[in-house]
Amino acid sequence: MNRLQAIQNAVRDEGLDALLLTSPVARQYAAGFRSSAGAAVVTPEACLFLTDFRYIEAARERVRGMEVRMTTHERPLRKQAAEWLYDRGAIEIGFEADTLTAEELELWQKEPGFRFRPAHKLARDLRMRKDEGEIRAIEAAQRVAERALSEVLETVLRPGLTERQVCAELVYRLHLYGADGPSFPPIVVSGPNSALPHGEPGGRVLERGDCVTVDFGAALGGYGSDMTRTVFLGRADDEQKRVYGVVLQAQEAGIAAIRAGRTGAEIDEAARAVIRGAGYGDYFGHGFGHGVGIEIHEGPRLSVSGEDPIPAGAVVTAEPGIYLPGKFGVRIEDMLAVTEDGCRNLTRAPKELREIG
Ligand code: ZN
Ligand code: ZN
Repeated sequence: MNRLQAIQNAVRDEGLDALLLTSPVARQYAAGFRSSAGAAVVTPEACLFLTDFRYIEAARERVRGMEVRMTTHERPLRKQAAEWLYDRGAIEIGFEADTLTAEELELWQKEPGFRFRPAHKLARDLRMRKDEGEIRAIEAAQRVAERALSEVLETVLRPGLTERQVCAELVYRLHLYGADGPSFPPIVVSGPNSALPHGEPGGRVLERGDCVTVDFGAALGGYGSDMTRTVFLGRADDEQKRVYGVVLQAQEAGIAAIRAGRTGAEIDEAARAVIRGAGYGDYFGHGFGHGVGIEIHEGPRLSVSGEDPIPAGAVVTAEPGIYLPGKFGVRIEDMLAVTEDGCRNLTRAPKELREIG
């Protein structure tokens, strides 16, 4: 069963006549084609993809399993969608309540004869369970990111560079080795800045004795990758070594707990218990991981509030960290594909403690 058929079945199961996909992410998921403007309309029997002049040629070539029509000033999107739905007798229409604005919904509601119902969870939940092709796309992005990182660690990273310069060297290599670009603005933080989990790369100059945290990914073929490595410039001191060891052990405990059917909270706790046991419980203030795919943060959530069982096929991160304010922080992040009896690590970059120079 392909992704579109899965959506069509879910539309039927929800008792909807049609699902309106208006966000670029949901459209890409359903149609395999990304455009900034347009909509996809999915009924259990038929699908319509609407977009404007800028995208119509590419859409005709690449959208599969949907009728593709062009919107114009005279034949705007909502009118065409409404007529197509009238022809099929559709009344109950699901919409993406998490992204469609109140203003847009009001405009849709001016088309008479429909009942609109929030149904964003439907596509979002389906998106958690990746098919083989999606996992391959994420792995391909990850391979590019790993090549960029290993080269930067081997030939670029040294005292005297700023965080921003290291970031630029990474992004340059993502493009050079075939990515569409970074999957999100990379985090490169050094020294005391590494204690800020989501600090931005700035003008700080790297020094010997710094720990440097790099959290980044590549975007490729509509999918993203996500990884974090923390390395040391010169020799790591005893406290840095201890903290690194605890984070790595916590990450491995979390990864060992991953399998389909477990909740995100159970997996989070497996890692958190290690950090708590080592006395750093107050210094791990974020969740263990998140889903990755078309969006860099998507379901499922692997944190204290992740109550739903995670499905086989989900691609999730494992990224515990310890952040000591004013001193340094360590985070290690891999991406895993969840299976019925465990998970497969999609990240190959080495993660034993690394001292550079
Ligand atoms: Zn990350
Ligand atoms: Zn992440």
